[in-house]
Amino acid sequence: MNKTQFNKFVEYLLKKDNVFAPQRNVEGKLIIGPLKNAKDLYLGAELPLDSWKWYMIPPYQKMFDYKGDKMIETLPEANKQIFLGVSILDMQALTLLNQIFEQDPYYQEIKKKTIIIGTSHVPEDNFSEYFAEFEENKLEHLQFDIFLAVLGNDFKLYTGSEDGQRFLDDFGYKNYKHIEYAGPIREEGLDPQMVSVMDGMQNYHDQKIWDDLGKRCIQCGKCTIACPTCFCFRIFDKAHLQRGTGERDRCWDTCFYNEFTQTAGVAPDAPKHKMMNTTAQKIYFWYEHHFVRTPATFSLPGCVECGRCTRACPADIDVFQTQRDILAARTKGKKK
Ligand code: SF4
Ligand code: SF4
Repeated sequence: MNKTQFNKFVEYLLKKDNVFAPQRNVEGKLIIGPLKNAKDLYLGAELPLDSWKWYMIPPYQKMFDYKGDKMIETLPEANKQIFLGVSILDMQALTLLNQIFEQDPYYQEIKKKTIIIGTSHVPEDNFSEYFAEFEENKLEHLQFDIFLAVLGNDFKLYTGSEDGQRFLDDFGYKNYKHIEYAGPIREEGLDPQMVSVMDGMQNYHDQKIWDDLGKRCIQCGKCTIACPTCFCFRIFDKAHLQRGTGERDRCWDTCFYNEFTQTAGVAPDAPKHKMMNTTAQKIYFWYEHHFVRTPATFSLPGCVECGRCTRACPADIDVFQTQRDILAARTKGKKK
C-alpha cells in the first residue's frame, strides 16, 4: 500500500468508527488520543508515554450495583473503536492482557468492539531485530486485525482476523496476506534473554541490587501507570444512601503503594499487617512480577521492553540497567 492509498485508508477508518492513534499534543508530546484528522497521525519509531491499556482497562471502572443480596452487573458501554498505529511491542502487551483478562467480562466487552491496526515501528534500538523477524516468528503469535509492515515509504499489509479482512475488502484493497493466529506462545518458548533474567532473579539473587534501587525509588507508582503490561487493580465498595444498595468498583493500583499488600489479621512475617514493608521489597516485587511471575504463569514475557517505565521514573531507575545488573549477578554466581 503506497502513501496515497494509506492516506485514503485512514480517511475511510475515520468515517467508520472512533479512531485512537498516536499524535502530538499542543506541547509537542506524543500521546494516544482520539484522531480527528488524518494529518495528525504519527507513525514512527517513537512510542507515546501512555499506552493502549488506558482504553482496554480504564483506570476506574464500575463492576456492578447491588441491591440487598442481588447483584446487577454493569458491563462498560463500549463504543466501537479502532486503535491505529499500535507498535508491535504494544501488540505483544495487548496479547498478554488478552490472556490475563480472558475471563474478565469487562475487558472482553471492550475487546470485542476494538480493532487493532499494528505497525512494525519500534524504538530505534530495537528496530532491526524486530523488523527482521516479525513476519515468521511474531505475527502468528499476536492478536491483531491489520498489520502495517513498513517497507521504505510503503506498507506491506497483513490481516490477523476476519474483521481485519472485512475492513480491507470493504475499503477495496486486496493485496494483503492473512496470518492465522497460532496462539500466544512461540514454539521455541520464551526469548533466551528473558529466560536468563528470570533465572538470574530466581537463582542468583543479589540483595545489593534491590537495596540500592530501594534507596533511590520514591514509590510514586509512575512506572506502573506507564507500563503497558501492569494490570493490578484494587476493588472497593461504595454504599449508596438508599438502604441495602451500593456498587462495587475497581481502579488501577500499584505494588508501590502502602495499602497494596495490607492484610486483615496478622500474617506470619508481616509486621504492620503488610507483606511488603520496605521500598527494596516493593521494587523487587515489581520486577519479579514482570520477569518471573508473568512468564512463569503465562509463558509470555511480562516486559515488552518498551522503556516507558524508565522514561516515567523521576528517580532515573532504568529497567534495562537493572536487567544488566541481574545478568551480571547471574554470571558472577555461575563462576563461583
Ligand atoms: S520496559 Fe518497563 S514499561 Fe515497558 S513493558 Fe517493560 S517493565 Fe513495562
Ligand atoms: S517510577 Fe521510579 S521512583 Fe516511581 S515507583 Fe517506579 S521505580 Fe520508584
